[in-house]
Amino acid sequence: MIKVEEALEIILDNVCSLGCENVSILDSLDRVLAEDVSSNEEIPPFDNSAMDGYAIIAFDTKGASTSKPVILEVMEDLRAGYVASAEVKTGKAIRIMTGAPMPKGADAVVMVEDTKAEGSKVNIFKELSPETNVRKAGEDVQKGDVVIRQGTVIRPAEVGMFAALGRAKVTVVRQPRVAILATGDELVDLGEQLSPGKIRNSNTYSLYAQVLKLHCVPIVLGIAKDVPEDVRKKMQDGLASADVLLVSGGVSVGDYDLVKDILAEIGMDMKFWKVAMKPGKPLVFGLIDKKSIFGVPGNPVSSMISFEQFVRPALLKMSGRTRLKKPIVRAILDREIRKKPERKHFVRAWVELVDGKYHATDTGPQGSGILRSMTLANGLIIVPEDATLIEAGTEVDVQLLDQPEAE
Ligand code: AMP
Ligand code: MG
Repeated sequence: MIKVEEALEIILDNVCSLGCENVSILDSLDRVLAEDVSSNEEIPPFDNSAMDGYAIIAFDTKGASTSKPVILEVMEDLRAGYVASAEVKTGKAIRIMTGAPMPKGADAVVMVEDTKAEGSKVNIFKELSPETNVRKAGEDVQKGDVVIRQGTVIRPAEVGMFAALGRAKVTVVRQPRVAILATGDELVDLGEQLSPGKIRNSNTYSLYAQVLKLHCVPIVLGIAKDVPEDVRKKMQDGLASADVLLVSGGVSVGDYDLVKDILAEIGMDMKFWKVAMKPGKPLVFGLIDKKSIFGVPGNPVSSMISFEQFVRPALLKMSGRTRLKKPIVRAILDREIRKKPERKHFVRAWVELVDGKYHATDTGPQGSGILRSMTLANGLIIVPEDATLIEAGTEVDVQLLDQPEAE
């Protein structure tokens, strides 16, 4: 049995970022950019008005005030998207809208609130200095700038910037494809009737959602019966179509726990089995032809927590990410926790920010099959291997499953 940290290190040492693909920027959200994106043009491409108002020569407004306006003659109206036909000369103005290119001759824009139109003339109530309310060409991006660097996790702001740069497609790291296999004679899938001795397959669905949450591609292999031929066939199908094979159940020490043996038989190089944690001890990790294989325990909570601790960081690394760990916060424990020594416990908990401090309380029964307390949790209290009692009021480490919202 190895420690959680050791297991994670082995996994991360054995997976690496996948290759690249070119995608529409509309599909690039949350992906990792695999190229430096630079600009072939300036943004904005021309000097333009930051306000609705009048393009003028700043010098003409010298001494202007509410009581003593400067009066200028308005030559034309200029909307965004068009170019002025006239040049602004002293004593003249052009009515201009936000985003319209600065007319020749003008060097400032007086905002409409500081003016009053009167027939073909305008009263200017304010003295301006040159460049007031003018957005200069290239003030956002200069030609040749590397605007977004390789390795960036693409957010909406980056998607907008790609569009501003005229890029319809970008190169990103490929998303891992993850084939999910449930095992067990007792499992019945959605739409089928439960009969004596049978339970519903839930792991396929929680794992599917966990994979999807990381923007990876889940592939459902269905349920394999606890017979070698079925397990072998379905695992081989998974390996043929995916980068990662994720098997739940059948990795313990029972007579029908076939997964490990069959993986060995089809050539898996096993890196470890069994991790000192609860829930989730019987975890298998290995490789076949550079494809990673995770065998997580069948108990629904063990399956989910094993995924969070081990499969998640591996998939993130394969997706090109460098930040792989869930945020950990210090929280005050509101109810004591007792446990046996030896294994690290991940206790399902509700975490809340109260008066600027995190508080954590377990969400009830912690059996590895009790999915209910997982649905009530937004964090996992990490109880170290050697601890046996953590008293209420103590500060503990809590791994946040979801970042709690402020309200
Ligand atoms: P195993 O790891 O195969 O020994 O299974 C451990 C426990 O998890 C057993 O009680 C199984 O019935 C249950 N289990 C296994 N696979 C699933 C699944 N896909 N959905 C829900 N429960 C499961
Ligand atoms: Mg089983």
